[in-house]
Amino acid sequence: HNGDERAGLIPRYVRVNTNLGTLEEVVESLTSGGFVLSDPFSSKNGFSKDPHVPDLLSFAPSTSFHDNQLYTDGKIILQDKASCFPALVLSPPASDNSVVIDATAAPGNKTSHLSALMMNKGKPQLFAFERDRKRFSILKMMLSKAACKNVSPINADFLTVDPHDAQFSSVTHILLDPSCSGSGIVNRLDHLVETETEDDTTKDDRLDKLAAFQLLMITHAMRFPNVKKIVYSTCSIHATENEHVVRNALSSEEAKDGSFILAPQHEVLPTWPRRGYPEEIDPEYASCLVRCLPGEDSTNGFFVSCFVKNQEIPRKKRK
Ligand code: SAM
Repeated sequence: HNGDERAGLIPRYVRVNTNLGTLEEVVESLTSGGFVLSDPFSSKNGFSKDPHVPDLLSFAPSTSFHDNQLYTDGKIILQDKASCFPALVLSPPASDNSVVIDATAAPGNKTSHLSALMMNKGKPQLFAFERDRKRFSILKMMLSKAACKNVSPINADFLTVDPHDAQFSSVTHILLDPSCSGSGIVNRLDHLVETETEDDTTKDDRLDKLAAFQLLMITHAMRFPNVKKIVYSTCSIHATENEHVVRNALSSEEAKDGSFILAPQHEVLPTWPRRGYPEEIDPEYASCLVRCLPGEDSTNGFFVSCFVKNQEIPRKKRK
C-alpha cells in the first residue's frame, strides 16, 4: 500500500510537554533508558531534536511509547511534526494579556501545546471548544493528563458563540483546526483517510462542502472585536480546503478593505521551505502560507495560514 510505504519515512515524533518537565529532563530520562542522541534512522534507539519545532524529538518510525512512563505520565505527547506548527505560529505571548480560543480542540494535542506555550498561566486564558460530546470527553482526559491548568474546555459549537459575549469579547488569538478531508494523513489509523473509491463528482462535492464550513469558521473568528491573530490549519493536501479557503476569507465581508491580511513569511515558520501554491492564490500571498507534503517532508500532509488584524488605517483593497 502506497500510504504505508510513505508512512515508513515519517519518524515517530514526540513533543515534550513542558507543563510537566523540561526538554533536558526528558532527554536525560530517554538516554538513561537506552536511547541515543543521534540520527533517528541510523539505529532503532537513535533520536534527535527537531530543527524547526522547539521541544520536539524524532525517533525511528517503529518506536513505540505507549508503555513508556514518560508517555503514561503525560510528560511526552505523541504528535506529528506538522501538527505542532499551528500553535507555534499562533504563539500567544504568555506575558501579555492574551486570551485564546482553540475553536476545534479535540483530542487536544494543539490545545495542550498552546497551554504549554502560554507557560500554563492564566485565569484560565485559553478556551477550548469541541462540539462533539464523545470527543469532548477525550479532550478533557487529555487536558488533565497533560496538567493544563490554564484551559477551560467547553462542549459547544464555536459557530454559536457570540463574539460580543462579555466572556469572549477580549479574545486576542484564535486557533482554527477544523474538520477536513484528512487527505494529508498517511500514518495514523485513527484518522479519516480519504476513500479512494468515490468518483470525482462526489469528491468535489464533499470538498466544496468542507470548504464552505471552513470559510464560515474563519469569518466567524474574524468577528471577535479584539482578535489580533487567527491561525487556520488543515491536514488536507487539497487547494480547495487550503489556498482557496484563505483566498475567500481574505475577500469576505469580515476582511473587507484589508482589515485582515496574511502574516508575512518572516512571522510564519520563516525557515520552512515549502510554501503555499502560487497558482492557487494571489502569488504574492503564497510565501505567507506553509505546506507539508507527505513523503517529501518527513511529516503528514498539512497546511497552515495566519491572518492578522491590519493595524494600519483600513485602505481600499487592491485589485
Ligand atoms: N486540534 C485538534 C488536535 O490537534 O488535537 C484536532 C481537531 S480535529 C481536526 C477537528 C475537531 O473539531 C473535531 O473534533 C470536530 O468534532 C470539531 N469541530 C468541528 N466543527 C466544530 C465546531 N463548529 N465547533 C466546535 N468543534 C468543532
